[in-house]
Amino acid sequence: MSADLSRLSSWLRCPVCAADLEPAGPLTLGCANGHRHDVNKRGYVSLLGGGTKHLGDTADMLDARDAVLEGGAYSPIADAVASAAATVLPERILDAGAGTGHYLRAALAAAPDARGLAMDLSPQAVARAVRSSDRIDGLVADTWRPLPVRSGTADAILDVFAPRNLPEFHRVLRPGGTLVVVVPRADHLGSLRAGGTMLDIPADKAEDVITASEPLYALQARETVAYDLPLTDALRDALAGMGPSARHAASGGTPASTSADVTRVSVDVLRLARR
Ligand SMILES: [Zn+2]
Repeated sequence: MSADLSRLSSWLRCPVCAADLEPAGPLTLGCANGHRHDVNKRGYVSLLGGGTKHLGDTADMLDARDAVLEGGAYSPIADAVASAAATVLPERILDAGAGTGHYLRAALAAAPDARGLAMDLSPQAVARAVRSSDRIDGLVADTWRPLPVRSGTADAILDVFAPRNLPEFHRVLRPGGTLVVVVPRADHLGSLRAGGTMLDIPADKAEDVITASEPLYALQARETVAYDLPLTDALRDALAGMGPSARHAASGGTPASTSADVTRVSVDVLRLARR
């Protein structure tokens, strides 16, 4: 594929000096200070910089995530995310921790004139997201570091089961833009976690996010999405394998230990307005 470097670079700033990035060659972005960054021929750019210690999702984890999401197991969550993002009539949507782009595609479907930037630590995830839609550009970057994204360039940011960098999201959002956060509730996937292989969830994670975001964001809406999800063996394994606890399981534990035939999906969807 040939990447649209103008569209891609319109999101981006140099990770070295923070100057805007512009097309500087067939597969190169550059800044006014002479820093050059190669664009992958699959249409995304990696601006990780040095020193990143966090691991991106593996191909196995992405396969598991695709199996769960494209099978529709989390469709009510995707619908809630898309509705929340659509409230600001977005033209530019950044998905931080996009994975393979499932939630970003849902948000774009609800905002026909919008385009999206799929940001993830995993190059394989970003490549899949870019391949999945001609309205999605891709960025490999670490949410915990200063984002190589221009200030005020996003109307909406999605953060679905992903790390949050609230000050950087604030900088990247335009004034009045919206941050959509999905966090698990304490009983999320309870029958799977009862086997002890998946990470425990804090009692009220949404409240923690609301409190932490208060100086920079105003809570607009808090919606609980909860339903019983019938389980097959394949879905049980995929849910356990899609992480983040999958990496822990792979390093010693055993995935998907219970034989429950139903589990509870239970999340909070927060809509936060940038102050
Ligand atoms: Zn630079």
